[in-house]
Amino acid sequence: MRLSRSHPRYASLRIRARLAAQAHTGLVAPEGLIAHGRGETFDYLLGERTTPSARAAERRAAEWIRSARLPVLSVNGNVAALAANEVARVARASPGLSVEVNLFHRTPARARAVANALRAAGVRNVLGVRPSARIPGLPSDRARVDRRGILAADLCIIPLEDGDRTRALRVLGKKVVSIDLNPLSRTSQEADLPIVDELRRALSNIADELERPGPPERTGRFARFDRRRALADALGQIGRNLKRAAAARPQPSAPPGRALRRRARGTGGRSRRTP
Ligand code: ATP
Repeated sequence: MRLSRSHPRYASLRIRARLAAQAHTGLVAPEGLIAHGRGETFDYLLGERTTPSARAAERRAAEWIRSARLPVLSVNGNVAALAANEVARVARASPGLSVEVNLFHRTPARARAVANALRAAGVRNVLGVRPSARIPGLPSDRARVDRRGILAADLCIIPLEDGDRTRALRVLGKKVVSIDLNPLSRTSQEADLPIVDELRRALSNIADELERPGPPERTGRFARFDRRRALADALGQIGRNLKRAAAARPQPSAPPGRALRRRARGTGGRSRRTP
């Protein structure tokens, strides 16, 4: 299908098309397409940009990666399809960090496809293709992990994860950083450091931080983070965007946050006031 560049959601539709194509190759599970739609909705409501609060969370996440003795970044089919390059950047910038395939809908072929996508993007060492351990208390394939990776980690970075696994990791005593656009998901609610931002933006910002000079500390101690405040900030942003959008006449060409910022700057074109 040809996408028109003039479509206000062009960038989002391109990403969607890429993901749909990856569902045909088997990299992305059909359920992953639906999960992506949930993310798109929340990104729309947040204004399709990194909020100052999310940026602060990303800075803190980079600090935690430097502090962790064994940080592991968990990658599923959607993450590999959307952000293999950004995962590779984070891995390059943090040589002690492991990257592990971790699938909700696991098949050996999908695990290999995820690992291949990561290697093609430049990730050297990919764990989790043949899991060697289980997370206690989780049923089914979702529990399967690598004993040198997630099982041994003190810090797990889990983009687009589900709430049960997030909780199980915390019960094991691991610090958990989530990346999830939905501040109400169980994952965001459970994580020690919830990043409420789009996956690629979040990983790029974390990579930017890690690429700044500064040695890894590897102390195993993690600076404080106010998770409740981060979630409240995201919900507050959505609330403000919706309130302003409800008060304004609809501007169908842009999501509420962006349209309203443009209006506030006075670059929104014609006055919307009725004569
Ligand atoms: P939970 O068990 O945590 O309540 P859920 O059942 O809501 O999770 P799923 O739909 O399985 O979660 O997982 C997808 C989650 O990932 C959603 O919360 C969605 O908002 C988020 N998500 C999807 N795509 C992206 C993306 N590109 N960037 C960030 N978050 C995303």
